[in-house]
This record gives sequence, C-alpha cells and structure tokens, in this order.
Amino acid sequence: MRLGEVSAAGSFHRLDLTLLKRRQLYILLLLFVVCSIFYYLGEIVTFSGGTKSFFNGVHDVHRLLFIVPIIYSGYFFRIKGAIIVTLAALAVFMPRALFISPFPDPVLRPVLFCVVAGTVGALTGLARNTFERSRHLEAIARNERDKLLRVLETMEDGVVIISPDYRVRFQNPSMVRELGEGTGSYCYAYLHHLEKPCGDTCQLKTVIDGANKRWEYSLSDDKTYEVVASPIIDSDGVVCLLEVYRNISHYKWIERELVKINQLKSELLSNMSHELKSPLTSIKGIVTSLLQKDIELDDDTREMLLDGVNEETDRLGSLVTNLLNMSKLEAGAWKPEKETCYIPDIVDEVLKHQKWIHMNHIFRTDLEPDLPEIQADYGQIRQVLINLVENATAYSEEGTEINIRAKMVDNNIEVSVSDQGVGIPPEELNRVFEKFYRGTQKRRDHGGAGLGLAICQAIIHSHDGQIWVESIVGQGSKFYFRLPITQLSNN
Ligand code: ADP
Repeated sequence: MRLGEVSAAGSFHRLDLTLLKRRQLYILLLLFVVCSIFYYLGEIVTFSGGTKSFFNGVHDVHRLLFIVPIIYSGYFFRIKGAIIVTLAALAVFMPRALFISPFPDPVLRPVLFCVVAGTVGALTGLARNTFERSRHLEAIARNERDKLLRVLETMEDGVVIISPDYRVRFQNPSMVRELGEGTGSYCYAYLHHLEKPCGDTCQLKTVIDGANKRWEYSLSDDKTYEVVASPIIDSDGVVCLLEVYRNISHYKWIERELVKINQLKSELLSNMSHELKSPLTSIKGIVTSLLQKDIELDDDTREMLLDGVNEETDRLGSLVTNLLNMSKLEAGAWKPEKETCYIPDIVDEVLKHQKWIHMNHIFRTDLEPDLPEIQADYGQIRQVLINLVENATAYSEEGTEINIRAKMVDNNIEVSVSDQGVGIPPEELNRVFEKFYRGTQKRRDHGGAGLGLAICQAIIHSHDGQIWVESIVGQGSKFYFRLPITQLSNN
C-alpha cells in the first residue's frame, strides 16, 4: 500500500467516526427533546386550552425518563457528556420547580435527581473508558505478542512458551526441528518424556514468579542445550515461561576434545621424557663403568657393555627420527620427493641392517619376480619398512619368523610384514595408526611413543596408497601397504 492510500484510508476512517458521533449526537438531542416535551406535557396541554390531567401531577416520574439521555451521553460522550446533559436536564427542570410546581421543596427533588442521575451517567462514562482502555491495552499486548512471535519464529535458537498448567503454548520452527512437534502437549512429556511434572528440578514456578534462570540440558542422543528461561506475559494476560534452547553440543564436543588433548599432551610429555631419559641413563651408566680405571674389565664384558650402548643409541635414534619425521609431516614439510624405486632394493637394504640388529629373529622374504619399478620417495618408503619391521621384532619373541612379501595386486604393489608375535586385540585394530596411540600389548624393548604407525600411514597416504593390518591375538600380526604403480609412474 502506498502512502497516499494510507492517508486516504486514515481520513476515511476519521470521516466515518465523525459521522457516527454526529448520529449519536442527533439521537441524544432527540431523546432529550422527547424527555423535555414529556416533562412539560401537562403544562403544554393546559396552555393549549386543555384540561389538567394525569401529566400535570407526576413530574417526579417524568423526570426519571431523563436517566435515558444521561446514561446515553455517559456511554457515548463519556463523563463530560454525562455532566453536560445532567446540567441541561437541571436547566429544563428549573422553570417548573421555580414557577409552576405547587409541591413543597420543588428545587430539592430535581437537584437530588440530577446528582444521582449525573453520578450514574458519569459512572457509565467511566466504565466505558476503563473498558475501552483495557481493550486498547489488550490490542497493544496482542500486537506486541505477534511482533515477538514473528521475531521468535525466525530465531535460530529453539524457543518454547509454556503456560502455568505445563502446556506448551508455542514453539518456533527451530524448536520443532530440534525436538519435534509439541504444541499443546505437556512440557514434561514433550521435553523429558515423563508422565508427570519433573518435581524438584522443575523451574516453571520459580520463573513464573519472576526469576530468570539458566541451565544446561543434555539429551541422551549426545545433544547438549544451554537453556535460558524468563517469564513472559502472554496476550491473554497469563504469565508464562519462555525458554530459549541453544544447541551447544558442538562447544561441548570441543571442550571434551580440549580436555582429551590436554591429557594427551601431559601423557606425551611424561612418556617422551621417560623414553628419552631411560636410554640416556643406560648409556651414562655403561660409559661410567667403562671409564672407571680402577675396575679391570675383560673383553667379553667390555663388548657386552658396548653392545648395550649401541642398542640404546639405536633406540634413542629411532625415537628422535620418528619425532622429527612426525613434526615434519605435521608442518607439511615432508613431501614425497619421488624418484624411480625398486621395492626389492628397499627391502634388501632394510633387512641388511635389521638382521644385524635383531640377530635372533628369523627373517624371510617372498618377493614376486619382475616387480615393476615405481615412482616414490625412496627414503620415506624405507622408513615405512623400518618401522614395520622394528615393530614386528618388538612385539614378537626372539626365534620367531618375520616375513616380508611383495606382490602385484591389480595396479598396485602390495607389501606385507608379518610376525608371529602377541597380535593386536580386535578393538585396537582401528586405533593403532592414530598419533601417539599405544596399545595394551607391551614392546619387548619397553620403548615406543605411539608414532611409528602414524608416520607409516601419513607416508603411504601421501603416496596415494593404502595401509592396514590384520591380526590374531597370540598368533601374530600382518601389516600391509599398497602403492599404486600407474599413477606414480605418470608423475
Ligand atoms: P609404538 O611405539 O607404541 O610401537 P606404533 O605406532 O609403532 O607405536 O604402534 C602403535 C601400537 O600398535 C603399539 O603400541 C602396539 O600396541 C601396536 N602394534 C604395532 N605393531 C605391532 C605388532 N607388530 N604386533 C603387535 N602390536 C603392534
């Protein structure tokens, strides 16, 4: 609607009102004139030559008729109208009271009548005023509620209004989306799936009595809401409870994760300190013994001590390598630098070293002949194999076999490292590749930081390959990885 139309409609409305008022004024005048004529009817008849009649003697009764225009004016023209018409009536009564009436106290009775009738008229006006004002206030309240509901409708948070009889009066669409349709049902049934009110935990009465409340509400399906409750007067004047539900499950999840991360950080720090400290302590002890000039050491003891230093240095070296590799991977600074690689060469190189370190394990290889060369980062794939073979030796007894196989599967080279060791419980299989995850099975060498497999996975994924494990507790584990050939050789 345009502005002109608004003002046209407005002036039409005003016109309409004035017409109505004018009509009421005419009716009032008519009533007043009729009452006045009736009041002087006896005198008018006598004056026109007629005889005295019933109408000359019952002015008190005639006067009563004036109550009609007085109440009418009070109803339509409020207190002021009632007073004016009462005074006008008094003016009508006075000539007869002063000049015609043969009865005693001719002025007192009309005055008394005017006081009573004027009061009734004024009360009528007052009642109408009060009624109109409350209707106006109701309309404002309804309008305000409509506005509020429109705002609530568009809110992203869930909103619900509950009346003192526990009935859900209103829900916004977000609330319906979050918790389903519930308007008309009892709040305890809708929100808490209960058959009767929640008892001590119910906040309805406290809030309706004027308090604002805030609490957290967790649903069984892992959803957490922050609920803010405050009183609200509904359009019918009933004080209700307005609850706003904000879904904070995501923040709660972040909170939980932060706690986990903090725990992990502390565990990691203490684990790392331990892992770094224990080989250093051994090395320091051995070197101190070797340096003691007053103790004669035979060759065997000296060699045993030196072997110990060698082993502990290897342990320290592999830990530091894993830590460095992990931080490079995290920083994205350990990208594969691809070159032409031949998997059997990598296996040979790794085994040459590992066989020397783990002399008491039996290493076997089964490498398919004519495996194609691939494009891969030689150093990274070697690191994967080292980690898998070192794990195989760490989680299996000396004297048992470790098998390394390589074969073609579709367009991939599949390499597997299997052992006959402790195996991995089924519930841990999905977690062993997580960073810093350490399973319940303990390494023979008591080392490890839960990084080896995470590094393997990151390297294989950066080569667009796959890595997984199969294991039976008590029988051993078999780790596989596959590297695609076609894609790599095209790079
Ligand atoms: P860790 O330094 O603890 O060995 P890894 O990342 O290499 O860390 O391995 C993660 C977890 O996987 C180990 O704590 C262990 O529980 C399990 N695991 C890895 N390799 C083997 C294996 N060959 N046999 C049994 N469990 C293994």
